[in-house]
Amino acid sequence: MGNEGIMTSIIQVDLLVHSAQVCTVPDRGRPQRGADLGDLGLIPNGAVAIRDGRIVALGKTADLQTRVTAAKEIDATGKVITPGFVDPHTHLPWVGERANEFEMRVAGASYMEIMAAGGGIMSTVRAVRAASVDDLVEANLPRLDRMLAHGTTTVEMKTGYGLTTADELKQLEAIHQLDQAHSMDIAATFLGAHAIPAEYKGQTETYVDLVVEEMLPAAAEWSQGNRPLFCDVFCEAGVFDVAQSRRILTKARELGFQLKIHADEFEGLGGTKLACELGAVSADHLVTTPAEDIAALGKGETIAVALPGTPFGLGHRDYTPAPEILAAGGALALATDFNPGTCWCESMQFIIALATRYLQLTPAQALAAATINAAYAIGQGDRAGSLAIGRPADLLILNLPDYRHLGYRFGTNLVEVVVKGGRVVGDER
Ligand SMILES: [Zn+2]
Repeated sequence: MGNEGIMTSIIQVDLLVHSAQVCTVPDRGRPQRGADLGDLGLIPNGAVAIRDGRIVALGKTADLQTRVTAAKEIDATGKVITPGFVDPHTHLPWVGERANEFEMRVAGASYMEIMAAGGGIMSTVRAVRAASVDDLVEANLPRLDRMLAHGTTTVEMKTGYGLTTADELKQLEAIHQLDQAHSMDIAATFLGAHAIPAEYKGQTETYVDLVVEEMLPAAAEWSQGNRPLFCDVFCEAGVFDVAQSRRILTKARELGFQLKIHADEFEGLGGTKLACELGAVSADHLVTTPAEDIAALGKGETIAVALPGTPFGLGHRDYTPAPEILAAGGALALATDFNPGTCWCESMQFIIALATRYLQLTPAQALAAATINAAYAIGQGDRAGSLAIGRPADLLILNLPDYRHLGYRFGTNLVEVVVKGGRVVGDER
């Protein structure tokens, strides 16, 4: 009888990870904006307890060890625990590769020159059009495995390599099947306006008509019973201008899509300001963003998603002006832009290494941008990118003595253990 009070207060859990520097990256109900970026909610010598795939206790190791009994324990002494990375911008799923173009580019050809020569995105479009849903699933499962091994536990994927209604729906179906087949959580985006397909060369308006009148309604119909979709547009000189982007995104919004945009990768056309005006969830790339568009990010809800792997992949010198965006009060997230043309990179760790140098983010800022803010950039701030009681247990054990080694060290995988939905990745496979 005397022990009853103590006995009932002990929680039985599946997994206790303890004795680590825990970066909880707290969710305050909105992304970390401006000067607030970099709030890690550190718990020195902390522990995380997991039951039924969710976090059920979080705190000091000494405290949790008196409150829980665990079926399995991991002693993470001298290591760091963080939320799983969220990668809010990739171009999965695709088939094929473009090493020949990489070689051309290294020899001096520009991205636009390669595209004008029939390469670039259209090369992958031809490969994806020739592929089946099964081909797409088979080619992309190993990529998800590598991303997960490098710490990404939630990922966004896009269409945009089909560029016909049937082939865009095929990519959506592949995304759906990948989500079913893999433990990674996947957010899906329709990007029918990724490029102007070769058969519409010189007829951009006609292609925009097809996107607006046929593809978007078909994607919206497909999403009934499947998943909510984002709609994205490649707003760039020589691709879709601001008026065309506005037309596509406005129609998408009417159909119930949440919005994203590719803007300011090469030229600042006003796409970021358009995204803020339309209430887009994110505006992505943002390398050549004009000052007034940066000001709009500070006032609006749209999250700036920086993709530093892309300028690096292209051998460019200019990166997202992160200090200016933060000074304006904007919210910044990081993503890989994982794609076969400009950035074949599965690793958010490498993106953090680039961001700490070329975006001048501190390791704390980069980590928050790669977790909680990245989760908000795909509308999942309430479930991903943060360690808190009740959330899905997606976490990493990094073989580092302090979180500041993240970004400082690069080129090898610093993740020792990935826990996805409460399960240690690798244990059941
Ligand atoms: Zn992209």
